[in-house]
Amino acid sequence: MKTKLYFILLAILYYPYNIYSQITPGFSICNECTDNYTQNNSNSQDTISGLFTYTDDEYETPDFTSDFGPRRIPGYDWHGGIDYNYSGGSDRGNAINSLEAGTVYAIIGTGLKYIIIDGENDFAYLHMFDIRNTLPVRSGNFVLTHLISDPTEYVIINLGTNTVIGEDACTSCVAYEGDTLDVDNEVLAGQAIGPVGNSPNYDIHLHISRIFDMTRPIGTHTGGNQILGDNNVTDPLEFIDHTGPEYDIKILKRGNFTNIDSFPEGIDLKYSQSGRSTTEILVRPVMPTTPQDDTDGAPYNSVLNISKVELRLANISLNDTFSLIQGPFFRSEIKMGATEDDNIAYPLRIGQSGSAVRRYGRFGFGNVQAKTGLYSFVYRDAGEDHHFYTTSGPRRWDDFYFTDFTTRVHVDDSLDEGGNIDMFADFPDDVRYNDGEYELFARVTNVRDSSFYSDTLSITIDNYMPYINSVTIIPGFFGEYVQYILDWYLTEMKINL
Ligand SMILES: [Zn+2]
Repeated sequence: MKTKLYFILLAILYYPYNIYSQITPGFSICNECTDNYTQNNSNSQDTISGLFTYTDDEYETPDFTSDFGPRRIPGYDWHGGIDYNYSGGSDRGNAINSLEAGTVYAIIGTGLKYIIIDGENDFAYLHMFDIRNTLPVRSGNFVLTHLISDPTEYVIINLGTNTVIGEDACTSCVAYEGDTLDVDNEVLAGQAIGPVGNSPNYDIHLHISRIFDMTRPIGTHTGGNQILGDNNVTDPLEFIDHTGPEYDIKILKRGNFTNIDSFPEGIDLKYSQSGRSTTEILVRPVMPTTPQDDTDGAPYNSVLNISKVELRLANISLNDTFSLIQGPFFRSEIKMGATEDDNIAYPLRIGQSGSAVRRYGRFGFGNVQAKTGLYSFVYRDAGEDHHFYTTSGPRRWDDFYFTDFTTRVHVDDSLDEGGNIDMFADFPDDVRYNDGEYELFARVTNVRDSSFYSDTLSITIDNYMPYINSVTIIPGFFGEYVQYILDWYLTEMKINL
């Protein structure tokens, strides 16, 4: 028995996942709800005599079907939240529990139906009810309807608890099946606030987003400046219990270009006389192999969970500290916009207050420009255009490209992100990365601020021809007498003798 226990403990110690706890994502299974609805049947409805019964449960990490971040699937490129599908059932009518206490900020009751709770973290819960827009709509014990006085102000009745929630508390202001009901606008942590559904026309699932700026216009679009806009949502897993992976982080170079699975490790430094040659560096945080690959194309037994990826470089010859590489346009950091702290105008994603254009990172090839950014493989649809990669299907990693490493960037270049002004040094005295021995590593930080590191690479920057700085001629016999001195001074403009 002792031996057995020993091995079990070892297995736990080496399990390559981390448990991140904070808010428990509770829900309740609707025992009698059935998925009789079809996406195109607006008349279907669950009916039983009396009330539905519910069983409390919690979402666990294998219930994730979609993590926060980029997608490479047709017609869709960014998922501004997380999705749950309870693995034990259809999800239809299951009760969504509020992750935190707060007040009802908004209920959208037509098309995409959702609720936002104004609390400490401001979560939105999407795809409630179904495609029917003629109120009242019932799902399980929940009824979506509106105020007597205003058909555009929606409320949700919980027939099981005889409570009604809405944006504004009011008395005798909702009518349902002959009763007149009061509305409360406060909810408790763990309170059932609505049913999991498929509005406006999705598969049945619960989507949770975290809202960054609550003052934005309320709507159903994920683009533009609306409250659900891609640049206004962060990753709820910063706060919700889940299991996250430990990454095996590799720094890779192009190698066999067409086979994304066999890029060799290391980097190839590029030089040119003009200084404008850029060195491409690829960081690949690989999730552990897991037994549970989902047929939907992505999720493994944990979530991707990445908040930012950085490359840090130090001139070892000068005993420098490690810092981000600064190219003419970008620093060597890629942020996902997953947390509030990630609010930078990064090329992958629009920062919450930034204006940079989201774009996928990739190696340059032919007339395809190299781009700093992220190429999504975890959530990649086999039917999607894969550009120059010949492999198909998802992988256990996303690739993060930094393509703005230019060894001759001028020490005074001001990192004109997205601009056209760049400065290069013609002489080593003016260069940011002078010749010498360097070390480089990648750091991946997840949404809970845990960091993971690649191995450290040693690289030699040997960019400039040696030049003669000074010549002193001393006659051999009378060695103390300096006969002749000539110094060279180098400037950006010309060489002065
Ligand atoms: Zn979703």
